[in-house]
Amino acid sequence: MAEGKKPHKNKPTSKKYTKYKIEGDKVVREKTCPRCGPGIFLMKAKNRLYCGKCHYTEFIKSEKKEEDEEKKED
Ligand SMILES: [Zn+2]
Repeated sequence: MAEGKKPHKNKPTSKKYTKYKIEGDKVVREKTCPRCGPGIFLMKAKNRLYCGKCHYTEFIKSEKKEEDEEKKED
């Protein structure tokens, strides 16, 4: 079996534009990195946002779960 050809997915040259949405006449951006500034977007992980540039991580608060197991104060 020759594996000369790989099936390739259509990759956009830049993913940046996918972070922009046009709503009406407004441009809505996704969350950007507070450290790197606008232009650097945070990647979305399961429950956090992550900046691949400066490794800034921002946790997303889930509204449902409340795990307060560290409440041992009296
Ligand atoms: Zn950053």
